[in-house]
Amino acid sequence: MLMSPEVRTVLEHTPQPRDLFERIVSVALPMATRFRGITVRETCLVLGPAGWAEFAPFVEYGTVEASRWLLAAIESAALPFPAPRRPGDVPVNATIPAIPAQQVPQIAARFPGVSAVKIKIAERGIASLDEDLERIAAVRQALPGVDVRCDANGAYSDDDAKTALTALARTGPLQYVEQPVAQVEGLARLREWASIARVPVPIAADESIRKVSDPLRVSSLGAADVIVVKTQPLGGIRAAASVIEAAGLPAVVSSGLESSVGLAAGVALAAHLPVPEAAAASLGERPAAGLGTAALLSGDVAGPALLPRAGALPWGRVAPREELLETYAAGPERARFWTERLEACWTHLKNGGAESGAE
Ligand SMILES: [Mg+2]
Repeated sequence: MLMSPEVRTVLEHTPQPRDLFERIVSVALPMATRFRGITVRETCLVLGPAGWAEFAPFVEYGTVEASRWLLAAIESAALPFPAPRRPGDVPVNATIPAIPAQQVPQIAARFPGVSAVKIKIAERGIASLDEDLERIAAVRQALPGVDVRCDANGAYSDDDAKTALTALARTGPLQYVEQPVAQVEGLARLREWASIARVPVPIAADESIRKVSDPLRVSSLGAADVIVVKTQPLGGIRAAASVIEAAGLPAVVSSGLESSVGLAAGVALAAHLPVPEAAAASLGERPAAGLGTAALLSGDVAGPALLPRAGALPWGRVAPREELLETYAAGPERARFWTERLEACWTHLKNGGAESGAE
């Protein structure tokens, strides 16, 4: 499932990375604020016959996990983006990292005109529940009237999740809370509890979709109201679209904190998705995607970067600029790390590694 038939064909006919990628360039992009525990985003850009693509697995990921991200890079470098099913720009949400409440207005100002906001919560060692609640209050003040989503990245225990969801619901309406607990069974139990306890917080699954061998367990266990999907960890636009279709749940496309080059593939996925009636009912006709994250970078390879304008992003490929590739070039040692990593993932895929998708 994680390898689309189109990408499988490309891989079968291409012996070595160098036979597909004309160039492989790794960069280190400075971030405007600490996010996901990092202040520099290292990533790798590749140029193929269809254009520039991105291979952006986080540096701590092993070969098996990173290989899925390579499938996405192969797809975008070798094949055109699938045709959009919905014309027009793709609305995006603001993304607020686990920052102190007083810093919220400064980050919120990077996302003018958005209709939704995603707030990071439950970051261990960074913020307490009280500080999370203060941040949410500050966001509601800085971005009045927008849909509020929270993302716990699976950090809560089952009991803490109940306490947190109850407190979060008291701050006002929530569109959903993303991955309150880590395990898919825990999500299912929590969702059932919320329904019985009348805590009006829909549950979204993110890590339970992108970090597991079977992303469809979320829907078969009734573990979420919404799924969050990312092109790179799901093996590309076409593979992600088939996961969404098979799951039959409302989907929100989100980023893997790529540069503007990779974000463009996310926009292509968001524009390609049909909107089932259930999704339209819970998230609206055009759910805001979590793709505005170029605003969290203070340096990008594209000029102009793929930044939200009036709360939305345009469809289309993004190419890096040569002078920016030079400005942000990773050092020779890091460049070697990325090239070797890409080759290891390629070998893994050629040996049938994406068949099972198992970790
Ligand atoms: Mg998430």
